[in-house]
Amino acid sequence: MRPETLEAVRLGGASVDVTVAGGRIARVTPSARVPARMVLPLLVDAHVHLDKTHTAQRIGRRPQSLHEAIELHLADMARWTAADVRARASLGLAEAEAQGIGALRTHVDWIAPEAPLAWAVLGELAEEWRGRVRVDRAALAPLDLLASEAGPGIADRVAADGATLGAFVYGGEHQPAKLEAVFALALRRDLALDFHVDEGLGRELVGVDTIVDLTGRLGMAGRVLCGHCCALSARAEADAARVLDAAAKAGVAMVALPTTNLYLQDAREGRTPRLLGIAPVQEARAAGVPVALALDNVRDAFYPYGEYDLLDAWRLGVLAAHLEPDDWIDAAGPVPAAALGLAPQRIAAGEPADFILIDAASPADLVSRPRARREVWRNGAPLGAAREEALTA
Ligand SMILES: [Zn+2]
Repeated sequence: MRPETLEAVRLGGASVDVTVAGGRIARVTPSARVPARMVLPLLVDAHVHLDKTHTAQRIGRRPQSLHEAIELHLADMARWTAADVRARASLGLAEAEAQGIGALRTHVDWIAPEAPLAWAVLGELAEEWRGRVRVDRAALAPLDLLASEAGPGIADRVAADGATLGAFVYGGEHQPAKLEAVFALALRRDLALDFHVDEGLGRELVGVDTIVDLTGRLGMAGRVLCGHCCALSARAEADAARVLDAAAKAGVAMVALPTTNLYLQDAREGRTPRLLGIAPVQEARAAGVPVALALDNVRDAFYPYGEYDLLDAWRLGVLAAHLEPDDWIDAAGPVPAAALGLAPQRIAAGEPADFILIDAASPADLVSRPRARREVWRNGAPLGAAREEALTA
């Protein structure tokens, strides 16, 4: 294949020419021209649900709250077979690849002591998609289950599969003691933790406080990710600031999920929501907490729209939380990569030519023109072209 040069593209804040040859980046040189396009590293989504994805159509009903969404979802689970999960998750992965996602972490509902059907299916898919989309699994168990006598067995299986341990944390009795039990399971097996925490707007939801405290006390910096944290947005600002400062010191990362939170928080039939339900991400980042933005639900009981376009969720987050696009574009790539323990993907000479080329001059331009043409390059060629070449070879 002949070398190809992408001239005057924006990389970081600079204008550069990127030359691609033999599937790799041959060189990156400064350009004097004003860029009309930009290149981004492949996107990293730290929080999706491939097990429940693409069920919205058959569920056919709009939930009026997070709790109703959980009921609709549990009813749908009765229909799950390995073939069903495989077909739906495969569609999600194909969409993710087409939109430029190179790595993702999928939560997998784990509601009984034994490993769920979808756990094995997603393990198989992780193997099959290796080199295309990296799939990490996180167990998503109710806190009560994980803190019960079933916890060690679940944690053993998660450890054996090189996955991440996680719990759904939403109020309840004896929460600090239960969280301490979960941290003990993780520590004993050197597991990272990933929580769905305080996904509501009640000020009594303070699970994140305990998680931050335990992370600091047990020395688990860089190993704990907190998803949602919506309730922080409802608490007194000084109170939230104290928690965020402590989170930064403890080394806890946060992932905000704009689409699902805007859809489910402060939802009531026949009434327009007044509250956003998005965690105070600006304050979190200012305090020093790594903050990622992620998709969460795609076409399921919790959120019936979407197609694994992380830049769409990113744009929604930018608009809803008043984020500066140039400063926050890393919340869809390098920041979640670090939160998942992955090395940052570099666009530099010698690296694989894997990147996204967008006909937008900057992240702010991309917010203005969400339909700007996007080309996902893998191994030195746009995805479509690579497929055509493979078909004609
Ligand atoms: Zn989630």
